[in-house]
Amino acid sequence: MIKSDILTHLENIVGKDFASNNQEDLFIYSQDSGASLPRPVDFVVLPKTAEEIQKILRLANEERIPIVPMGGGMTLSGLTIPVNGGIVIDLKRMDKILEINEISRYALIEAGVTTGRLTAYLEKHYPDLEVSIPDAPPSATVTGNALIHGSGFLSHKYGNHGDMINGLEMVLPNGDICKLGSCAVSDYWFTRGPIPDLIGLFISSFGTMGIATKMAIKLYPKDNLREVIVGIFKEPKMIPDVISKITNTDIAEDIVFAVSEELIKGYIFLATFITGTSEEEIGTKTKILKRIYRKAKGSYMKVPRSFRNFFLEKPIFISSEADTRRGGGFEYSGNFLPLEKLPEAIEKAIEISRKYGISPSQVSRVIGKGHNVMFAASFSFNRADPNDMENARNALHETNKLVLDLGGIIWKPELAGQKLIIEKMDPSYKQLYKAIRAALDPNRIMNPGNWEIT
Ligand SMILES: Cc1cc2nc3c(=O)[nH]c(=O)nc-3n(C[C@H](O)[C@H](O)[C@H](O)COP(=O)(O)OP(=O)(O)OC[C@H]3O[C@@H](n4cnc5c(N)ncnc54)[C@H](O)[C@@H]3O)c2cc1C
Repeated sequence: MIKSDILTHLENIVGKDFASNNQEDLFIYSQDSGASLPRPVDFVVLPKTAEEIQKILRLANEERIPIVPMGGGMTLSGLTIPVNGGIVIDLKRMDKILEINEISRYALIEAGVTTGRLTAYLEKHYPDLEVSIPDAPPSATVTGNALIHGSGFLSHKYGNHGDMINGLEMVLPNGDICKLGSCAVSDYWFTRGPIPDLIGLFISSFGTMGIATKMAIKLYPKDNLREVIVGIFKEPKMIPDVISKITNTDIAEDIVFAVSEELIKGYIFLATFITGTSEEEIGTKTKILKRIYRKAKGSYMKVPRSFRNFFLEKPIFISSEADTRRGGGFEYSGNFLPLEKLPEAIEKAIEISRKYGISPSQVSRVIGKGHNVMFAASFSFNRADPNDMENARNALHETNKLVLDLGGIIWKPELAGQKLIIEKMDPSYKQLYKAIRAALDPNRIMNPGNWEIT
């Protein structure tokens, strides 16, 4: 079929205003805010329903057109930029909050609901409930973020966002619509099991296994008071021990630590967020934490009030750190690391930043009471300068290699990072993934080029 006929089909499915192959419309979808090079897109569509997506995928199968699902497009690793052209399915219009279950504590949402919208909705209508959101711009979708195994301010207490998914409605590559989790059996989207758990197949697979159209995500009770206790430490090697001691107490909501040469050279901030229902509770927790900080060997220092305010008033710390080069470009190597490997990662990633002439800047978050750490080393660049962009990509790649050498896993890897993981992956895992993907998507239409195992 020629391009204009495909466009007509797409317009018939989603409406004339919501399908395009105009260069002006495609431009924005051919790149993201990270350091990936732009790649061409043939069509963009903005469907409103799962049934429309179903029809688009059936057309794509007939015509062998690649499909790339997109939420907010905020991963920074080029995951929504097509590798082989094709149709970007922008899910923005699927923005309904379908149900908030206050008692079983979950939100059932459409895939285009953004983190900003769900948070604002809960604040207004359910002020005693909250959802864990990333420190990302509020245009990131809750579903896109959970599907890439994201993490946020409740992840220390409750785990990765992928673990918070109770159920999914998926449009599979062949166009079938499939429910996963308790919703496959019951009207309640309250749990993933206890039936064979297939939801994991769709997490971190970057749209290669299908398109989520609905998701149920866990909500949590919200305390009305929040405080942050910030320490400044000299030695990275002290950090795992301090974190273990804090996680042992069970009082922290969120533990974030950061290295920033721009803000304070040669030190590591450790910010522990606590919550409570009374000043007394906050006071007790503060005392316990300060005792742990003081007892840590090395140079714990008293923190000026301005630093406390910086963390409390600017929860989006990573964003405020993003553009140190004032060139509008920011990329980061996010990684899952075992806690004990953190000191080495901090020191070696600082060396890599310096080697590439980029001011060292790292932000990490403790996940699930210390079961792993999301370690992010960020690299700013001047978007107007291709050499500077390449410099950031090289720094990212070297950090990714470092993380794999340390026994960690690169999180939301761009194509080059995916390749590094695949090279190291157990052959039987690769075969299993390949077989499942081939069974679900025999025409290889779903985000081809990603997780490409030969
Ligand atoms: C300044 C900054 C700070 C950040 N801080 C954090 C942080 O603290 N924690 C964190 O987790 N992330 C963070 N991120 C990363 C970013 O938030 C996540 O990448 C983003 O939330 C993912 O959601 P999205 O809607 O943008 O997904 P997209 O980028 O649109 O998509 C991500 C991947 O999932 C696929 N996908 C998207 N929607 C669907 C769907 N419905 N069905 C199937 N596949 C789909 C896409 O094809 C793509 O492969 C940060 C980003 C920035 C720019």
